[in-house]
Amino acid sequence: MKLKSISLKLGLWFSTIFIALLLILGFILYGIFTNFLTDFIEQDLVARGNNHARNLEGQFTKEAIEHAIGMERGVSTRILITDSNHQILGSSIEPNEDMMEQINIKKSFHEGQILENDWQDHEYIVSVSPVGNDSGYVYMYYPSSKLKDMTFVMSLLSLITSLGIMFVAFGLIGILSRLFTKPLLSMKNATIQMAQGQYKQKIPVKGNDEIAQLGNSIQALGEQLQYYETTRNEFLAAVSHEIRTPLTYIKGYSDVLSKGIIDSREEQEEYLKIITKEVNRLSFLVNDLFEMSKLQVGKFELTKEPAKMNDIIKKIITNLKPAADRKELELKGEYKADVLFPVDVRRMEQALYNLIENAIKYSDKGKVTVISFLQNEFLVIEIKDTGIGIPEKDLTKIWERFYRVDQSRTRKTGGTGLGLYVAKQIIESHGGYITVKSKENEGSVFSIFLKAKSEI
Ligand code: ADP
Repeated sequence: MKLKSISLKLGLWFSTIFIALLLILGFILYGIFTNFLTDFIEQDLVARGNNHARNLEGQFTKEAIEHAIGMERGVSTRILITDSNHQILGSSIEPNEDMMEQINIKKSFHEGQILENDWQDHEYIVSVSPVGNDSGYVYMYYPSSKLKDMTFVMSLLSLITSLGIMFVAFGLIGILSRLFTKPLLSMKNATIQMAQGQYKQKIPVKGNDEIAQLGNSIQALGEQLQYYETTRNEFLAAVSHEIRTPLTYIKGYSDVLSKGIIDSREEQEEYLKIITKEVNRLSFLVNDLFEMSKLQVGKFELTKEPAKMNDIIKKIITNLKPAADRKELELKGEYKADVLFPVDVRRMEQALYNLIENAIKYSDKGKVTVISFLQNEFLVIEIKDTGIGIPEKDLTKIWERFYRVDQSRTRKTGGTGLGLYVAKQIIESHGGYITVKSKENEGSVFSIFLKAKSEI
């Protein structure tokens, strides 16, 4: 049978270990107790035998022997006194076979000692004490049954206490393991909810132990998932919007053209220009999406060829000039240096398009300037604008996928939050890097650094 509840498993493990420890402890205590008790009884037996022997020394008479025997009546010990030839002179009870066993050996002794201590298999613990001048011997007997009774009572008592402790311990273990598993259960419920799409979960945990840390991690994971879910939805809405607008233009103008109702050649060309511009916009958007998906699956490979960066900049400026004109922004390039450079032209165009388009998109007045110059071993391309700028707190986040500063300001400009992410990846894959400096309501400067001495 497989145990499903961790509290039951923990309980069983703890109980098994606890019982094993209790048993070992019981055995050790039992050994110590019986050893201590038998030692004590043996010493007492020899001491009392010696006392009697000392008292009988010099007056080994019938009266003295009777007196010694009389002293041992009414107690559990027995006494037996013999002469030096092991002939019995007196005894507190009628000696039986077990009592006679040691006497029959007829050995002589010079000092008090224990003759039999095996209380498990013999009826008595036996000691002997010689009476001075070889007059005789005092044998003392302690009945093993007394000792057995005592150890039995002790075993019974310790069994009852062990059972009591075990019950209390079981209860405690039960409560403890439930206490441990309670937060785990709430984590399980939280993850089930998360699997059903409710990512933001509150997991009640206390303290900072491993279980609390796990709870906090799950909660953080849920918040992160919720963030991705929200940004993904916003991204999808933004992408659909970005696609729908140019498509509406293309459809509208191509419908008019195909119906042949426009006669003026200039007007026709104007319409065609608008269609081309919108197709271009769509194509850059689709490229951003394409690059993102390639980056996601790690299939981002460059096709480099020697090219002049200024030519790429000029092409993009020409492409975006109408957009700048519409907003009455000045868009110009300043070409202070150029290098023949191994680049993936289409991708570098994409990166520059994203940056220059942003500069136009987020500026309402002034100008957008693209400057290329040499600085140490770098060819630097600066994209400067006099636009709305970027709040300080967002400066590090703008490079993230789907990140867009403040929805309210991006709603009117449109955008997908992909532009800077893709531009950064493209520039870094060319061995370069990109930085940003920006002040709100004053403008932004994006600087691309490309190693000018790269091999072609
Ligand atoms: P988007 O498609 O929203 O423009 P980007 O990744 O290109 O996405 O840019 C991310 C965010 O950075 C934008 O939402 C915008 O708020 C901010 N941003 C980028 N470039 C500029 C700029 N030149 N001036 C002001 N804000 C900018």
